[in-house]
Amino acid sequence: MDIPRIFTVSESEHRIHNPFTAEKYAALGRALRMKPGTRILDLGSGSGEMLCTWARDHGVSGTGIDMSPLFTEQARRRAEELDVSERVHFMHNDAAGYVADEQCDVAACVGATWIAGGVAGTMALLAKSLRPGGIMLIGEPYWLQVPASDEIAQACGVSSVSDFLTLPDLVASFDERGYDLVEMVLADREGWDRYEAAKWMTMRRWLEANPDDDFAQEVRAELTAAPVRHVTYAREYFGWGVFALMTR
Ligand code: SAH
Repeated sequence: MDIPRIFTVSESEHRIHNPFTAEKYAALGRALRMKPGTRILDLGSGSGEMLCTWARDHGVSGTGIDMSPLFTEQARRRAEELDVSERVHFMHNDAAGYVADEQCDVAACVGATWIAGGVAGTMALLAKSLRPGGIMLIGEPYWLQVPASDEIAQACGVSSVSDFLTLPDLVASFDERGYDLVEMVLADREGWDRYEAAKWMTMRRWLEANPDDDFAQEVRAELTAAPVRHVTYAREYFGWGVFALMTR
């Protein structure tokens, strides 16, 4: 069980697989005012940077689930490196439909809401693992600028304009589902650059090391197209944030 190879090639050097930076995760960790011992569930935990650094900085514990064996292994190594492997655990698995045995204090899905078919489905899934009064974290893109056509949306890498909302509409949608938005931290363009531009160096190095790999043509095509695509589309059209929600 694995995610498409282009991600494990292009993001193999990433600690954070979304437009958040270490500073943004630190700001969010402080904003949530978590007490030591807070239990977190993280669906689509990637290389584990959120759980590992929050365990180090706030004494929280947690479980992360991710479908990439590579990212899961990196998460375990990061936990050891930060000396938090007794408190945070990473499982390689499909998080679709995953419900924790024991309800947690914080239930998160940061940049992987397709796991349950979008924001609404992911909120419903996370709610099953969350204790009453707990905090849900949703990391999700939104349109900074609504594309004038589905062709532009496709150039941004999504199938249609309706795949995402504007920030006001996304925030209103939480309200409509009966949740209070109690905190949020938004990514910025520099964060997008860190996420996207870091892939270019990784792909370039991978191509130099693996010229005869069957996958080289695909990586070559991606490296050639990605920079112009990023500065023309994603950087201009996409916002991204993590939203902390509590049910009313
Ligand atoms: N939250 C992480 C990773 C976000 S990227 C971070 O902040 O860095 C999205 C992640 O979802 C990737 O790590 C990918 O491997 C994982 N993923 C994709 N589909 C999944 C699924 N069905 N179940 C679990 N993880 C999945």
